[in-house]
Amino acid sequence: MSARILDGQALAAHMRAEIAPQVAEFSRRRGRPPGLAIVLAGNDPASEVYVGHKLKAGGAVGFRVDLERLAETATIDDMLGLVERLNRNPDYDGVLVQSPLPRGMGSDAGHRVFDAIDPRKDVDGLTPTNVGLLVQNRATLVSCTPAGVIELLERERIPVAGRRAVVIGRSDIVGKPMAFLLLQRDATVTICHSKTPNLAAVCREADILVAAVGRAALVTRDYVKPGSAVIDVGVNRVVDATVAERLYPAGHRRLEVFRKNGSLLVGDVHPEVSDVAGALTPVPGGVGPLTVAVLMKNTLRAAQASEAVGS
Ligand code: NAP
Repeated sequence: MSARILDGQALAAHMRAEIAPQVAEFSRRRGRPPGLAIVLAGNDPASEVYVGHKLKAGGAVGFRVDLERLAETATIDDMLGLVERLNRNPDYDGVLVQSPLPRGMGSDAGHRVFDAIDPRKDVDGLTPTNVGLLVQNRATLVSCTPAGVIELLERERIPVAGRRAVVIGRSDIVGKPMAFLLLQRDATVTICHSKTPNLAAVCREADILVAAVGRAALVTRDYVKPGSAVIDVGVNRVVDATVAERLYPAGHRRLEVFRKNGSLLVGDVHPEVSDVAGALTPVPGGVGPLTVAVLMKNTLRAAQASEAVGS
């Protein structure tokens, strides 16, 4: 049996087409498009790629998306000053600070920065206010990646209520909000992490398995219940040919991609899982595009909410 491949790219395009008329309508009413400011500090190559996707997708749907860059050497005070200016700027309905932050900003920089974002503009749902609202099941702005996974499950009609869900990873940005969103939809949820014993056995109980770890191909076939839905959030760059050759059989088209580019993006889920799972998201082309589509949806939502309160 081969798993049904869940096409995040197609669904993201569909979501963008759904919101485009509302974006146009907002722009006509307000005389300006919904605005999103993205802050990118430093030169992390993966962040450059992610931000590029966000700028492109936002522009294509009619948003104003501006990039504010800070140098790798910028201080936490530089960052907090910029966030404060963006909070006050009425042209921006959303403010997103791309993670990871430069190490020089300090180990508590993430919390300090997310504490500083105006919750009404927090389109990545990471401020304490929005996380609290999520926990209480009354959030309007939810972290984009887990919200994208929920969109996918709903639109692909994968039942959640009453099912066993296992989330591997407990980060603030993916694992924890993912677990709460599944819980709110009446799944019975287990969260796993690096200290979880017998990880494969726990995962094998899942009807829905979400891997958000950052370890290439960690989830092998022995982690997967036959027929289950496996959602691969991980994005890992493989640069070692022997690793790529362990993942794909000789002659596989992805090995051609590796030879051409000298690297390959792979998920946390081993490709062999497609022989066991009932449904599986690919990497690339699965969760990633949905994250960007939800960011647009959240920005529109923030813009409409600010309009409703007359700001
Ligand atoms: P993170 O903050 O590094 O968290 C990783 C989590 O995985 C931690 O909770 C860690 O456990 C757990 N973990 C690490 N090694 C493990 C192991 N061997 N067994 C079980 N659990 C293990 O990462 P993140 O920000 O959540 O991102 C996770 C992955 O998703 C990354 O590959 C990232 O690039 C990707 N991502 C993709 C998107 C997208 O749009 N597609 C968006 C965001 C993130 P501890 O807590 O015990 O350390």
